Amino acid sequence: MHEFSIASNIVHSLLDLAEEHDQEVIAATVAVGPMSMVVPELLTYAYEALTKDTPLAGSELHIQQVPITAQCNECGAEITSSQPFVKCSECGSLNLKIKAGYELQLVSAELGESGEITPDETPS
Ligand SMILES: [Zn+2]
Repeated sequence: MHEFSIASNIVHSLLDLAEEHDQEVIAATVAVGPMSMVVPELLTYAYEALTKDTPLAGSELHIQQVPITAQCNECGAEITSSQPFVKCSECGSLNLKIKAGYELQLVSAELGESGEITPDETPS
């Protein structure tokens, strides 16, 4: 699943960040563009599944949906939409240049002040 490998990358980045700052990760925000073909619900699900047994367990993943922005190469119109599209809404041209919408990146992470990161030991 697409979302699992993406979530896995995010989790690794966060673990690195937590270690670097010696802090606990409370929440993280990722920007997701419609062209990235990521289903936000699946990404959240994958994140929770992957963080379950890590220091990130219980942290929240916020998904910030960014719109697609394209510029028409024919008439120069700039089109913004939250849904994928292929045509210029002004002149109907298919000659579009996508400027934004492929985003899939970690925007920010909220770190705690405990400064302690303890991997969850399996209780005996
Ligand atoms: Zn156009």
